[in-house]
Amino acid sequence: MFASTALIASLLKTRSFSSDLRPQPLDDAPTAVGTPDLDAASTTSSSQTIIVDEDALIELKSKLANAHLINDLSDDTLARLVNANLATAYIAYGLSDLSFVYPGLPTGYLGESVEQWAAENIANVYGQNGKVAHMDTRAGALAAVHGALKSSPAAVSVLTSSQGLLTMIPNMHVLAQSKLPVVIHVGAHALDDDLELSPEVDSVLAARNTGFAFLASNNAQEAHDMALAAHIIAKSTSLPILHYFDGVKAAKEIEKVDLLPYAKVASIAANVAAVETSYTNAFDAVENILGQVGKAVGRDYHIFEYSGASDAETVIVTLGAGSQTVKQAVGQLATANRVGILSVRLCRPWSEAHFLNAIPKSAKRVIVLEQGDGLFAFNGPLFLDVAASFRFGEWTGAKPRIVTAQSTNYGNLRPAHLLQLLSETNNFVDLNSEQYTSLADEPALLDTASRAIFWEVAKTNTASHVSNILSKSLHVQTRIVEDSYRPGGAVVNSHLRFSKSTDVSAYAYEKASFIAVQDVALIKEYDVLASSTQKATVLLNGPWKNGDEIEPKLTNEFKLRATQLDIQLYTIDVASIAQNLALSNKSRNLIFETAYFLLNKNVVDASSSALAALYQEIDGSKKTAALVQEIFDAVKADLTKIDLLPPWTILEISDDVLPKIPADRAATNEDSALIPDESQGAATVGKWHQAAWDLIFKEAYESKTALRPDLHEDTFVVKCSENRRLTPDTYDRNVFHLEFDTGNSGLKYNLGDALGVHGLNDEQQVQRFLEWYGINGQDVIALPANEAGQRETRTIFQLFTQTLDIFGRPSKKFYESLADYTTDAKEREQLLFLISSEGKEEYKKRVDETTTYEDVLREFTSARPTVEQLATIIAPIKPRHYSIASSQKMFANSVHLLVVAVDWKTSTGEVRYGQCTRYLSDLKIGANVTVSIKPSVMKLPPLNTQPVIMAGLGTGMAPFRAFIQERSVLKASGVEVGPMMLYFGSRNRRNEYLYGEELEAYHAEGLLTHMGLAFSRDQKEKVYIQHKMQEDSRQLYEYLINEQAHFYLCGPTWPVPDVKDAVVYGLKQYGGMEERAASDLIEEWKEKERYILEVY
Ligand SMILES: Cc1cc2nc3c(=O)[nH]c(=O)nc-3n(C[C@H](O)[C@H](O)[C@H](O)COP(=O)(O)OP(=O)(O)OC[C@H]3O[C@@H](n4cnc5c(N)ncnc54)[C@H](O)[C@@H]3O)c2cc1C
Repeated sequence: MFASTALIASLLKTRSFSSDLRPQPLDDAPTAVGTPDLDAASTTSSSQTIIVDEDALIELKSKLANAHLINDLSDDTLARLVNANLATAYIAYGLSDLSFVYPGLPTGYLGESVEQWAAENIANVYGQNGKVAHMDTRAGALAAVHGALKSSPAAVSVLTSSQGLLTMIPNMHVLAQSKLPVVIHVGAHALDDDLELSPEVDSVLAARNTGFAFLASNNAQEAHDMALAAHIIAKSTSLPILHYFDGVKAAKEIEKVDLLPYAKVASIAANVAAVETSYTNAFDAVENILGQVGKAVGRDYHIFEYSGASDAETVIVTLGAGSQTVKQAVGQLATANRVGILSVRLCRPWSEAHFLNAIPKSAKRVIVLEQGDGLFAFNGPLFLDVAASFRFGEWTGAKPRIVTAQSTNYGNLRPAHLLQLLSETNNFVDLNSEQYTSLADEPALLDTASRAIFWEVAKTNTASHVSNILSKSLHVQTRIVEDSYRPGGAVVNSHLRFSKSTDVSAYAYEKASFIAVQDVALIKEYDVLASSTQKATVLLNGPWKNGDEIEPKLTNEFKLRATQLDIQLYTIDVASIAQNLALSNKSRNLIFETAYFLLNKNVVDASSSALAALYQEIDGSKKTAALVQEIFDAVKADLTKIDLLPPWTILEISDDVLPKIPADRAATNEDSALIPDESQGAATVGKWHQAAWDLIFKEAYESKTALRPDLHEDTFVVKCSENRRLTPDTYDRNVFHLEFDTGNSGLKYNLGDALGVHGLNDEQQVQRFLEWYGINGQDVIALPANEAGQRETRTIFQLFTQTLDIFGRPSKKFYESLADYTTDAKEREQLLFLISSEGKEEYKKRVDETTTYEDVLREFTSARPTVEQLATIIAPIKPRHYSIASSQKMFANSVHLLVVAVDWKTSTGEVRYGQCTRYLSDLKIGANVTVSIKPSVMKLPPLNTQPVIMAGLGTGMAPFRAFIQERSVLKASGVEVGPMMLYFGSRNRRNEYLYGEELEAYHAEGLLTHMGLAFSRDQKEKVYIQHKMQEDSRQLYEYLINEQAHFYLCGPTWPVPDVKDAVVYGLKQYGGMEERAASDLIEEWKEKERYILEVY
């Protein structure tokens, strides 16, 4: 939605703006000064739920946000665990009548909480409900803001990302020219092609000449303070202000921030008087307001902030970039190295005089830390400002040498890197180079903080809960990295840092003295001990109770490193504790949290009640506190210290270098409107991350996760719960019994229905084909899913395993289409011959030979259709149907099948397998299978007392098992049921008496009144079911003619005529009917569905 004038009007209409926009003194302010409920803002709607008691397992809902860790401190201090986004939004909402949100990500974007507060009618500092417009980012963005400011003198803020800002530049000029005091807050970030989030300040700096004043902040606390300053400056000077911060840190780092209560915000804003100033002379006004804000919040802010040695020879100038790291390092290195740091807080308008004033006169070298993608080469924006100041400003004495140090991302900069930087002699330093980006071991330079790391495979609130409790007594920072696109599932890596001092650390990744790994499989993928301190406590989740047991789960590298570091290795069996306490999967993080507190009593002695307080109270018999106490007891009992084994010290290790942290690929993205529109019609192939686009831009692409959207019937996912071979392993025929758990799939079936199974192609066979054809299976293909233009996105490997019948029989149309792609005239001719009438014989041979699509492609090698083209000329895999062998009356939650594996040999001796039976025979317990239901005429007679005569060969037994079960259930409930005759035929009793024991039992019990078993090869002469029927022809006649019996034949087609002859025989013999009349009567029964065939 692009906000129109009408939208603005409607937003403004609902708010009668005071004509006097000067902030009112607190005493005069409306009484209902609201404070957004940060807890509510940071929780998802689902987490408001009290308790879900699915499957009688206890699920505890966290009161905390996914990532925002909110303290329940009193409103006087409002010290909260928040990130810079939330801290900024809090002030922006408080001081705005109207906020425009141009989201940079689908969730977790700057301004998200503002939307929520507005929806909840939270009052801003003036006691009014803030209005919020959620905007699309398009070229010309900000026109709506201009309209709003023109039509009413409202306090307006804009919350956006770097990329959003790019589209606003033309209108920023317009706003600045009109002196309209909007405040734009920018989280500077971008997503790269691999969906990794990175800071992006090029776009921010591209807007530096628009006439906006530019304020930078460097952490969540500063973001809060600078947001406040920005709004006050805008109000006081009537200048438009842009406030920006590193959007990656903003989203990922959570720290304890002192938020000012809204009443205090109102009073500070009210006390700053309006000043007349021009943009170019605004420094003094800004400096003055920064001073006032600094005083009010208890921190020192200036337009240029210098710290370090007063006689510094080297001065590092930064604008946001790495300034925290540098500041901390400088704090330690300053005196010895005569170094200082100048942080630029206000970079537009730029004040030469203030800048030069802030630089010690002793400076011989100025190192400019430039942040950007290298677009500016040596002369970045900050370098130019610095150089111009020295060139044209009033600087007495020798001009210092100006050095540029440039990087795209200062996230990895460490104090050790700074020492290296100080030793550089060049005028240009590339901080993207290995020596400045490696997270190499370094001496603990700066602080005494403790750290903990949690490796988890599901996004839980572990880090939030632990931080929250620690934050009661310590200063806490949390950084969460999530790779949502890790093959095999997301991995979440949370770093917690806590110390007594309120110093904030800028280093993202440091060594920890506690490391917990939720899934030991991660040890093979990541170098989890790379972040371990000497003697760190390492907790692994699993049932192992000693070194011998756990040994096979660990890599040699881990074992060796563990011994070298002398780690304290512990295990905890989360699964068994959860099972014993009936704790749901989703609440297992509580066990980890508990284990953390039990193993870190030296850090904080947390009580179970403190942890319980972070969860919603359970509604029902069990109180949260009691449950958490039980968890504490259980964890205490289960925690096991594992002694490292002596042989671990002498293991051979590989040279493989595993990543120390996951890639930062959370399910986040850039503005949907900025994503190029993919072609809608044809299939398109892209890299794997394009699939992710579709998934993460759900709204933009209207993406839905669908189960086989290409199928038109209703499909269900059922779980294989049994796969049992019924014939002996030594027997050449594999007949097997399958059971599927229907669980919550909603699958309902009627007696006699067949189950449509959507089988997959064999993965190895697919892989072999793709490799031979030269296609990367991991590439993504987007295919049109329906006429409405929707597309379905998945990998090529998925396409060939799930959809395309590449190993099936090609139609003539395929040969014809393939001819179009040949580059060899002979091949084209041959393909066209095969589908002509002259080529009929040749074509038939191929069918008999069971030639597949793959065979044809391998034969006609000059035809190389692209994957998109293959996707349109190869038919989809068809579901195979199987008569359901169970009654839902007897098995409410499962469905059973009886299947015979199909295989054959081609003339060249190659063994081939039936597509679906191969898939089914290999099914593992727990595997998900997509199925559908096909209704059938195989129904029991209307009256339970009517006799049924069932004739089945081999797997033809399947529906009769269901019939027998159905009548068994009826009988057991006291219903009178009629006679049941069963004729079953197979090769021999020893190998193929399918469900023999069950049948014998039903027979013995009297439900099966008669069994005619025909094992053709058990005696010299072949005996088939028709022979058995003929023996009973009198009885059959009786039932069919006098008792309205229903007759059924199921299985292969070949006995159909012989079976009919057997029935005709009885009719002739005992009813005196003519052959013809008997035959007609059978036809009539067929019409009336009393003589039913299901043959295949
Ligand atoms: C209503 C109904 C109920 C059924 N109930 C059951 C049941 O209860 N149990 C059971 O086991 N089966 C049952 N079937 C049969 C089942 O649906 C399948 O047909 C059977 O399992 C074979 O499937 P498949 O995918 O393994 O073999 P497919 O891959 O479909 O191969 C089957 C045959 O097709 C031929 N063929 C394969 N590829 C080619 C090619 N490229 N060119 C030419 N010919 C080729 C071969 O001769 C092969 O034997 C039922 C069928 C129907 C219609």
